[in-house]
Amino acid sequence: MTESKHIITRDQHSVSRKDISDNALKVLYRLNKAGYDAFLVGGGVRDILLGLHPKDFDITTNATPEQIRSLFRNSRIIGRRFKLVHIMFGRDIIEVATFRAHCDSNIEQAKEGMILRDNVYGTIEEDAERRDFTVNALYYSVKDFSVHDYCGGLTDLRKRQLRMIGDPETRYREDPVRMLRAVRLATKLNLSIEPKTLEPITELAPLMEQVPAARLFEEYRKMFLSGKGEDTFKALQELGLLQKLFPATDTLLAEHQDFETFIHAALENTDKRIASDNTVNPAFLIAVFLWQPLLERAHQLETKGMNFNDAFFKSMGYMLSEQSRYISIPKRYSLVIRDIWALQVRLPQRFGKKVWSVLSHPRFRAAYDFLMLRAESDPSLREVADWWTKFQDADKATQQAMLPKNKRRKSKRRRKPKGND
Ligand code: ATP
Ligand code: MG
Repeated sequence: MTESKHIITRDQHSVSRKDISDNALKVLYRLNKAGYDAFLVGGGVRDILLGLHPKDFDITTNATPEQIRSLFRNSRIIGRRFKLVHIMFGRDIIEVATFRAHCDSNIEQAKEGMILRDNVYGTIEEDAERRDFTVNALYYSVKDFSVHDYCGGLTDLRKRQLRMIGDPETRYREDPVRMLRAVRLATKLNLSIEPKTLEPITELAPLMEQVPAARLFEEYRKMFLSGKGEDTFKALQELGLLQKLFPATDTLLAEHQDFETFIHAALENTDKRIASDNTVNPAFLIAVFLWQPLLERAHQLETKGMNFNDAFFKSMGYMLSEQSRYISIPKRYSLVIRDIWALQVRLPQRFGKKVWSVLSHPRFRAAYDFLMLRAESDPSLREVADWWTKFQDADKATQQAMLPKNKRRKSKRRRKPKGND
């Protein structure tokens, strides 16, 4: 499988030590000094070669996790799918992995071909072969500042293409998350997905169902909170992957033009926030993606005789647990999602004390942003959205003037939020 090894000397590539964090360099030097081979690998090398600034640096070595651990006091062995060492420099963590083999006899495979356990160390060549894309299998050494290319990654980088190492179908079957990584990396790096790498995805998309929901939350974060959420969403939708991640969302998108408008407005907004270094909460987009499904569910319960409020609040729990079958949503985020949704019912009710409790709610800002985005596809929400825009920044006197004068409300029934339908 391995194409001939190419060692590219320092004068023939653009990776230099100044692109690499001091902590990553420290780790590389110390491993070398102790007699081990050590390389910067993966996204770090790839991004530098593309002229980008990598956010994290992964290191790989022939030292075992225990040997690495004994070299760095500030380190700990972590073992999820395989053992890794985290070396801590304050808040900066450098991840070091031992070369891994891809040796059939040591791999436990499910019948669909998915690898269940493969914690076996190997040579650097084997390590390269088990990586996903050729551009991710480039190794940089600080011994002689060379780049080692075992799979043709440099040629692919020059062609600006993302190509799977080995047979794409087999590799997707081993780990279906590679389909998401293909979409995410191609979008993030502006690379085209090489035709043979692209071709099997739609057919194999159902394999996503085998991936643990907890792992998919991390992928969700990377796909949607890295500044290219809108492009990623479109690509996932086109390739049939969205159906496997957010099935209720994907189904309703086809039926509701304004739901699609709402989602794209939210994705565009998130991408802009990231571009200008504003914080983004992973809960927000999930609240957006599940909004129409939530309303549909609530309407269904209403037709069975439940009042809107009960139907709406009951549907919140239902939607979150349904979605968690695909992508698990940590509790701290599902609470935020519930707050954002619940506030959509409260925001239109601008009466007396309620206004102040809404305004001081810790999720007011997120709920207001959510309402503003809904208003982009639903003009009937414009008035209430504009009211809150003005109210939140107004001085006390103006705020008082904006509120109705001690009018007693006739009905206690909460108003139902207008849907994006
Ligand atoms: P980024 O950090 O920019 O999101 P990355 O490619 O560095 O991208 P990581 O998740 O940090 O992504 O993984 C580091 C490296 O580990 C990858 O470059 C790749 O070589 C390898 N890798 C990660 N996930 C897989 C996988 N599912 N299958 C095979 N190799 C993988
Ligand atoms: Mg990385």
